[in-house]
Amino acid sequence: MILVEGCEDWMKNMRTEGETERGGVRAIALLSGGLDSTLAAAIVKRAGIDVIGLTVRFFVNADPEREAKIASGASALGIPLRTIDLSQEQLEVIKHPHHGYGTAVNPCVDCRILMLNGARRVMEEEGAQFVITGEVLGQRPMSQHRRAMDVAAVESGLGDRLLRPLSANLLPDALPVKEGWITRANLFSISGRSRQEQMALAKELGIADYPQSAGGCILTDKVYGARLRDAFAHVGREAMGIDEFMILRHGRQFRISKRAKVFIGRDEKENAALAEYMSGRHGIEPLSVPGPLALVEGDPSEEELMLAARLVARYCDHQDGVPVELAVTRDRMTRKIEVLPLPSDDPRLPAWRIEPRR
Ligand code: SF4
Repeated sequence: MILVEGCEDWMKNMRTEGETERGGVRAIALLSGGLDSTLAAAIVKRAGIDVIGLTVRFFVNADPEREAKIASGASALGIPLRTIDLSQEQLEVIKHPHHGYGTAVNPCVDCRILMLNGARRVMEEEGAQFVITGEVLGQRPMSQHRRAMDVAAVESGLGDRLLRPLSANLLPDALPVKEGWITRANLFSISGRSRQEQMALAKELGIADYPQSAGGCILTDKVYGARLRDAFAHVGREAMGIDEFMILRHGRQFRISKRAKVFIGRDEKENAALAEYMSGRHGIEPLSVPGPLALVEGDPSEEELMLAARLVARYCDHQDGVPVELAVTRDRMTRKIEVLPLPSDDPRLPAWRIEPRR
Protein backbone atom coordinates (compact mmCIF):
# COMPACT_ATOMS: atom_id res chain seq x y z
CA MET A 1 0.00 0.00 0.00
CA ILE A 2 1.48 3.37 -1.00
CA LEU A 3 0.67 6.17 1.42
CA VAL A 4 0.40 9.65 0.01
CA GLU A 5 -0.11 12.61 2.29
CA GLY A 6 -2.84 14.71 0.75
CA CYS A 7 -2.97 17.74 2.97
CA GLU A 8 -0.22 20.13 3.93
CA ASP A 9 -1.76 20.54 7.36
CA TRP A 10 -1.49 16.84 7.96
CA MET A 11 1.49 16.90 10.30
CA LYS A 12 0.12 19.90 12.17
CA ASN A 13 -3.16 18.15 12.69
CA MET A 14 -1.76 14.84 13.83
CA ARG A 15 -2.37 14.14 17.46
CA THR A 16 -0.70 11.48 19.49
CA GLU A 17 -2.86 8.85 21.11
CA GLY A 18 -4.70 10.25 24.11
CA GLU A 19 -4.79 13.77 22.72
CA THR A 20 -8.09 13.35 20.88
CA GLU A 21 -11.12 15.46 21.62
CA ARG A 22 -13.16 12.68 23.17
CA GLY A 23 -11.04 10.65 25.53
CA GLY A 24 -8.72 9.26 22.86
CA VAL A 25 -11.50 8.19 20.50
CA ARG A 26 -10.53 8.65 16.89
CA ALA A 27 -12.23 7.62 13.65
CA ILE A 28 -11.16 7.28 10.02
CA ALA A 29 -13.74 8.73 7.60
CA LEU A 30 -13.68 7.41 4.04
CA LEU A 31 -14.30 10.44 1.80
CA SER A 32 -15.47 9.81 -1.76
CA GLY A 33 -16.00 13.36 -2.91
CA GLY A 34 -19.79 13.21 -2.52
CA LEU A 35 -22.23 14.65 0.01
CA ASP A 36 -22.96 11.43 1.91
CA SER A 37 -19.41 10.75 3.03
CA THR A 38 -18.96 14.44 3.92
CA LEU A 39 -22.08 14.29 6.07
CA ALA A 40 -20.98 11.06 7.76
CA ALA A 41 -17.66 12.64 8.77
CA ALA A 42 -19.41 15.83 9.97
CA ILE A 43 -21.90 13.86 12.10
CA VAL A 44 -19.15 12.02 13.92
CA LYS A 45 -17.02 15.12 14.32
CA ARG A 46 -20.05 16.95 15.77
CA ALA A 47 -20.24 14.21 18.42
CA GLY A 48 -16.80 15.31 19.62
CA ILE A 49 -14.83 12.48 18.06
CA ASP A 50 -11.48 13.14 16.41
CA VAL A 51 -11.91 12.42 12.69
CA ILE A 52 -9.23 11.80 10.08
CA GLY A 53 -10.37 11.86 6.45
CA LEU A 54 -9.19 9.16 4.08
CA THR A 55 -9.52 9.02 0.32
CA VAL A 56 -8.73 5.95 -1.78
CA ARG A 57 -7.12 6.41 -5.16
CA PHE A 58 -7.84 3.78 -7.84
CA PHE A 59 -6.41 3.86 -11.35
CA VAL A 60 -9.94 3.89 -12.77
CA ASN A 61 -10.85 7.13 -11.04
CA ALA A 62 -7.44 8.78 -10.54
CA ASP A 63 -8.33 12.42 -11.08
CA PRO A 64 -6.42 15.35 -9.58
CA GLU A 65 -9.55 17.53 -9.76
CA ARG A 66 -11.56 15.02 -7.72
CA GLU A 67 -8.78 14.75 -5.16
CA ALA A 68 -8.53 18.55 -4.91
CA LYS A 69 -12.29 18.69 -4.23
CA ILE A 70 -11.99 16.06 -1.51
CA ALA A 71 -9.07 17.94 0.05
CA SER A 72 -11.08 21.15 0.05
CA GLY A 73 -14.08 19.31 1.57
CA ALA A 74 -11.85 17.92 4.35
CA SER A 75 -10.37 21.33 4.94
CA ALA A 76 -13.87 22.85 5.23
CA LEU A 77 -14.72 20.20 7.82
CA GLY A 78 -11.51 21.00 9.68
CA ILE A 79 -10.13 17.48 9.46
CA PRO A 80 -6.79 16.23 8.16
CA LEU A 81 -6.78 14.07 5.05
CA ARG A 82 -4.75 11.06 3.97
CA THR A 83 -4.76 9.36 0.58
CA ILE A 84 -3.97 5.71 -0.07
CA ASP A 85 -3.37 4.29 -3.52
CA LEU A 86 -4.96 0.86 -4.01
CA SER A 87 -4.73 0.73 -7.82
CA GLN A 88 -2.77 -2.51 -8.02
CA GLU A 89 -5.07 -4.21 -5.55
CA GLN A 90 -8.12 -3.01 -7.48
CA LEU A 91 -6.66 -4.39 -10.70
CA GLU A 92 -6.67 -7.89 -9.19
CA VAL A 93 -10.19 -7.40 -7.85
CA ILE A 94 -11.47 -6.41 -11.32
CA LYS A 95 -9.87 -9.50 -12.84
CA HIS A 96 -11.10 -11.90 -10.19
CA PRO A 97 -14.06 -10.57 -8.21
CA HIS A 98 -15.21 -13.04 -5.54
CA HIS A 99 -18.63 -11.43 -5.47
CA GLY A 100 -19.05 -10.97 -9.22
CA TYR A 101 -19.79 -7.94 -11.36
CA GLY A 102 -22.66 -5.48 -11.36
CA THR A 103 -24.37 -4.36 -14.57
CA ALA A 104 -21.05 -3.93 -16.42
CA VAL A 105 -17.60 -4.92 -15.10
CA ASN A 106 -17.97 -3.19 -11.75
CA PRO A 107 -16.97 -5.49 -8.90
CA CYS A 108 -18.54 -3.10 -6.37
CA VAL A 109 -18.82 -5.49 -3.43
CA ASP A 110 -15.17 -6.55 -3.69
CA CYS A 111 -14.13 -2.97 -4.36
CA ARG A 112 -15.92 -1.77 -1.19
CA ILE A 113 -14.23 -4.54 0.78
CA LEU A 114 -10.88 -3.41 -0.62
CA MET A 115 -11.53 0.22 0.39
CA LEU A 116 -12.68 -0.79 3.86
CA ASN A 117 -9.71 -3.05 4.26
CA GLY A 118 -7.42 -0.13 3.37
CA ALA A 119 -9.29 2.04 5.87
CA ARG A 120 -8.85 -0.65 8.54
CA ARG A 121 -5.09 -0.64 7.99
CA VAL A 122 -5.01 3.16 8.29
CA MET A 123 -7.19 2.90 11.41
CA GLU A 124 -4.60 0.61 12.97
CA GLU A 125 -1.70 2.85 11.94
CA GLU A 126 -3.41 5.91 13.39
CA GLY A 127 -4.46 4.26 16.63
CA ALA A 128 -8.08 5.00 15.68
CA GLN A 129 -10.99 2.89 16.95
CA PHE A 130 -13.41 2.79 14.05
CA VAL A 131 -14.10 3.65 10.42
CA ILE A 132 -16.94 5.83 9.05
CA THR A 133 -18.50 5.64 5.60
CA GLY A 134 -21.30 7.60 3.95
CA GLU A 135 -23.09 4.42 2.86
CA VAL A 136 -26.86 4.59 2.81
CA LEU A 137 -28.92 1.43 3.07
CA GLY A 138 -30.66 0.69 -0.24
CA GLN A 139 -29.00 3.50 -2.17
CA ARG A 140 -26.95 1.39 -4.60
CA PRO A 141 -28.30 -1.85 -5.98
CA MET A 142 -25.08 -3.85 -5.85
CA SER A 143 -23.13 -2.70 -2.81
CA GLN A 144 -25.54 -0.93 -0.46
CA HIS A 145 -28.16 -3.50 0.30
CA ARG A 146 -28.10 -5.08 3.71
CA ARG A 147 -26.42 -8.36 2.82
CA ALA A 148 -23.63 -6.72 0.80
CA MET A 149 -23.04 -4.21 3.60
CA ASP A 150 -22.78 -7.01 6.17
CA VAL A 151 -20.40 -8.98 3.93
CA ALA A 152 -18.20 -5.91 3.44
CA ALA A 153 -18.01 -5.28 7.19
CA VAL A 154 -16.98 -8.88 7.90
CA GLU A 155 -14.62 -9.45 4.95
CA SER A 156 -12.79 -6.15 5.47
CA GLY A 157 -11.97 -7.27 8.99
CA LEU A 158 -13.77 -4.24 10.46
CA GLY A 159 -16.85 -6.01 11.79
CA ASP A 160 -18.57 -3.69 14.27
CA ARG A 161 -15.76 -1.15 13.97
CA LEU A 162 -17.56 0.10 10.85
CA LEU A 163 -20.08 2.88 11.45
CA ARG A 164 -22.47 4.12 8.75
CA PRO A 165 -23.84 7.23 10.50
CA LEU A 166 -26.53 7.99 7.88
CA SER A 167 -28.21 4.57 8.22
CA ALA A 168 -26.85 3.51 11.63
CA ASN A 169 -30.23 3.50 13.33
CA LEU A 170 -31.48 0.92 10.81
CA LEU A 171 -28.52 -1.38 11.48
CA PRO A 172 -27.25 -3.34 14.48
CA ASP A 173 -25.25 -1.24 16.94
CA ALA A 174 -21.67 -0.67 15.86
CA LEU A 175 -18.85 -0.52 18.43
CA PRO A 176 -18.96 3.29 18.86
CA VAL A 177 -22.62 3.02 19.92
CA LYS A 178 -22.02 0.01 22.16
CA GLU A 179 -19.15 1.85 23.85
CA GLY A 180 -21.17 5.04 24.23
CA TRP A 181 -18.72 7.13 22.15
CA ILE A 182 -21.67 8.25 20.06
CA THR A 183 -25.39 7.82 20.82
CA ARG A 184 -28.23 6.81 18.53
CA ALA A 185 -29.61 10.33 18.98
CA ASN A 186 -26.62 11.59 16.99
CA LEU A 187 -27.14 9.06 14.22
CA PHE A 188 -29.70 8.67 11.41
CA SER A 189 -32.18 6.27 9.76
CA ILE A 190 -31.77 7.31 6.13
CA SER A 191 -32.41 4.71 3.44
CA GLY A 192 -33.13 4.58 -0.29
CA ARG A 193 -32.17 6.73 -3.23
CA SER A 194 -33.89 10.01 -2.36
CA ARG A 195 -31.49 12.82 -1.46
CA GLN A 196 -34.02 14.90 0.50
CA GLU A 197 -32.89 13.93 3.98
CA GLN A 198 -29.23 14.40 3.13
CA MET A 199 -29.94 17.88 1.73
CA ALA A 200 -31.81 18.83 4.89
CA LEU A 201 -29.01 17.45 7.05
CA ALA A 202 -26.40 19.36 5.05
CA LYS A 203 -28.33 22.53 5.81
CA GLU A 204 -28.58 21.66 9.50
CA LEU A 205 -24.84 20.96 9.72
CA GLY A 206 -24.04 24.17 7.85
CA ILE A 207 -22.51 22.31 4.92
CA ALA A 208 -23.42 24.64 2.07
CA ASP A 209 -20.65 24.22 -0.42
CA TYR A 210 -20.35 20.47 -0.31
CA PRO A 211 -18.49 18.60 -3.03
CA GLN A 212 -20.58 17.21 -5.86
CA SER A 213 -20.53 13.50 -6.38
CA ALA A 214 -17.56 12.45 -8.45
CA GLY A 215 -18.18 11.38 -12.07
CA GLY A 216 -19.35 7.83 -12.69
CA CYS A 217 -16.93 4.96 -12.40
CA ILE A 218 -15.86 3.72 -15.86
CA LEU A 219 -16.34 0.12 -14.67
CA THR A 220 -20.09 0.69 -14.57
CA ASP A 221 -20.12 1.76 -18.23
CA LYS A 222 -21.53 -0.96 -20.49
CA VAL A 223 -19.44 -0.01 -23.52
CA TYR A 224 -16.30 -0.16 -21.40
CA GLY A 225 -17.56 -3.48 -20.03
CA ALA A 226 -17.86 -4.94 -23.54
CA ARG A 227 -14.36 -3.76 -24.36
CA LEU A 228 -12.91 -5.23 -21.18
CA ARG A 229 -14.58 -8.58 -21.76
CA ASP A 230 -13.16 -8.64 -25.29
CA ALA A 231 -9.70 -7.86 -23.87
CA PHE A 232 -10.03 -10.58 -21.24
CA ALA A 233 -10.85 -13.05 -24.05
CA HIS A 234 -8.09 -12.00 -26.44
CA VAL A 235 -5.27 -10.38 -24.40
CA GLY A 236 -5.88 -12.58 -21.34
CA ARG A 237 -6.76 -11.49 -17.81
CA GLU A 238 -3.35 -12.28 -16.39
CA ALA A 239 -1.49 -10.43 -19.15
CA MET A 240 -3.42 -7.22 -18.53
CA GLY A 241 -1.80 -4.42 -16.54
CA ILE A 242 -3.02 -0.88 -15.88
CA ASP A 243 -2.11 0.27 -19.44
CA GLU A 244 -4.24 -2.50 -20.99
CA PHE A 245 -7.17 -1.33 -18.89
CA MET A 246 -6.62 2.36 -19.55
CA ILE A 247 -6.29 2.14 -23.35
CA LEU A 248 -9.82 0.72 -23.47
CA ARG A 249 -11.13 4.20 -22.63
CA HIS A 250 -9.99 5.68 -25.92
CA GLY A 251 -11.23 5.75 -29.49
CA ARG A 252 -13.49 3.63 -31.63
CA GLN A 253 -12.63 -0.03 -31.17
CA PHE A 254 -12.98 -2.88 -33.65
CA ARG A 255 -12.16 -6.58 -33.29
CA ILE A 256 -11.30 -7.47 -36.89
CA SER A 257 -9.95 -10.96 -36.08
CA LYS A 258 -8.91 -13.08 -33.12
CA ARG A 259 -5.38 -11.76 -33.60
CA ALA A 260 -6.06 -8.10 -34.35
CA LYS A 261 -7.91 -5.24 -32.72
CA VAL A 262 -8.03 -1.68 -34.07
CA PHE A 263 -8.29 1.54 -32.02
CA ILE A 264 -9.14 4.72 -33.99
CA GLY A 265 -9.03 8.19 -32.42
CA ARG A 266 -12.19 10.28 -32.74
CA ASP A 267 -10.58 13.68 -32.16
CA GLU A 268 -7.27 15.34 -31.35
CA LYS A 269 -7.57 14.50 -27.67
CA GLU A 270 -8.10 10.81 -28.36
CA ASN A 271 -5.29 10.76 -30.95
CA ALA A 272 -2.96 12.19 -28.30
CA ALA A 273 -4.20 9.68 -25.71
CA LEU A 274 -3.68 6.73 -28.09
CA ALA A 275 -0.19 7.97 -28.98
CA GLU A 276 0.80 7.15 -25.39
CA TYR A 277 0.14 3.46 -26.07
CA MET A 278 2.16 2.99 -29.31
CA SER A 279 4.72 0.74 -27.67
CA GLY A 280 4.12 -2.90 -28.62
CA ARG A 281 1.39 -1.98 -31.14
CA HIS A 282 1.28 -0.98 -34.81
CA GLY A 283 0.56 2.73 -35.35
CA ILE A 284 -1.27 3.87 -38.51
CA GLU A 285 -1.44 7.55 -39.54
CA PRO A 286 -2.64 9.18 -42.76
CA LEU A 287 -0.06 11.04 -44.84
CA SER A 288 -1.97 12.27 -47.89
CA VAL A 289 -5.17 13.51 -46.14
CA PRO A 290 -6.21 14.61 -42.63
CA GLY A 291 -7.36 11.77 -40.41
CA PRO A 292 -7.01 9.97 -37.10
CA LEU A 293 -4.21 8.11 -35.37
CA ALA A 294 -4.98 4.39 -35.11
CA LEU A 295 -3.35 1.50 -33.27
CA VAL A 296 -3.47 -2.18 -34.13
CA GLU A 297 -3.08 -4.49 -31.16
CA GLY A 298 -2.21 -8.16 -31.24
CA ASP A 299 -0.31 -10.13 -33.81
CA PRO A 300 -1.94 -9.26 -37.15
CA SER A 301 -0.99 -11.01 -40.39
CA GLU A 302 0.01 -8.74 -43.29
CA GLU A 303 -3.47 -9.23 -44.72
CA GLU A 304 -5.10 -8.21 -41.42
CA LEU A 305 -2.83 -5.18 -41.16
CA MET A 306 -3.93 -4.06 -44.65
CA LEU A 307 -7.56 -4.59 -43.63
CA ALA A 308 -6.96 -2.44 -40.54
CA ALA A 309 -5.36 0.23 -42.75
CA ARG A 310 -8.41 0.24 -45.05
CA LEU A 311 -10.63 0.65 -41.97
CA VAL A 312 -8.53 3.60 -40.79
CA ALA A 313 -8.65 5.15 -44.26
CA ARG A 314 -12.44 5.01 -44.06
CA TYR A 315 -12.26 7.50 -41.17
CA CYS A 316 -9.87 9.86 -43.03
CA ASP A 317 -10.96 12.83 -45.17
CA HIS A 318 -11.04 10.69 -48.30
CA GLN A 319 -12.82 10.54 -51.63
CA ASP A 320 -14.56 7.32 -52.58
CA GLY A 321 -12.40 5.18 -54.82
CA VAL A 322 -9.26 7.29 -54.25
CA PRO A 323 -6.40 5.52 -52.41
CA VAL A 324 -5.14 7.01 -49.13
CA GLU A 325 -1.45 7.08 -48.27
CA LEU A 326 -0.72 5.93 -44.72
CA ALA A 327 2.35 5.47 -42.50
CA VAL A 328 2.48 2.17 -40.62
CA THR A 329 4.91 2.18 -37.68
CA ARG A 330 6.06 -0.66 -35.46
CA ASP A 331 9.00 -0.49 -33.07
CA ARG A 332 10.03 2.87 -34.62
CA MET A 333 10.25 1.32 -38.13
CA THR A 334 7.91 3.15 -40.51
CA ARG A 335 6.76 2.17 -43.97
CA LYS A 336 4.39 3.90 -46.39
CA ILE A 337 1.41 2.11 -47.88
CA GLU A 338 -1.54 3.05 -50.11
CA VAL A 339 -4.95 1.51 -49.57
CA LEU A 340 -8.50 1.98 -50.76
CA PRO A 341 -10.79 3.04 -47.90
CA LEU A 342 -13.37 0.44 -46.86
CA PRO A 343 -16.82 1.46 -48.09
CA SER A 344 -19.01 2.79 -45.27
CA ASP A 345 -21.59 0.06 -45.99
CA ASP A 346 -19.09 -2.78 -45.64
CA PRO A 347 -21.22 -5.52 -44.04
CA ARG A 348 -18.42 -6.58 -41.67
CA LEU A 349 -18.34 -3.25 -39.83
CA PRO A 350 -21.22 -3.87 -37.36
CA ALA A 351 -19.77 -7.24 -36.31
CA TRP A 352 -16.30 -5.75 -35.79
CA ARG A 353 -17.50 -2.95 -33.49
CA ILE A 354 -16.95 -3.92 -29.85
CA GLU A 355 -20.28 -3.09 -28.29
CA PRO A 356 -22.44 -4.33 -25.42
CA ARG A 357 -24.50 -7.40 -26.31
CA ARG A 358 -28.15 -6.51 -26.86
S1 SF4 B 1 -18.48 2.10 -8.68
FE1 SF4 B 1 -16.36 1.58 -9.29
S2 SF4 B 1 -15.02 2.49 -7.71
FE2 SF4 B 1 -17.13 2.43 -6.88
S3 SF4 B 1 -17.25 0.51 -5.77
FE3 SF4 B 1 -18.02 0.07 -7.83
S4 SF4 B 1 -16.23 -0.63 -8.95
FE4 SF4 B 1 -15.45 0.36 -7.08
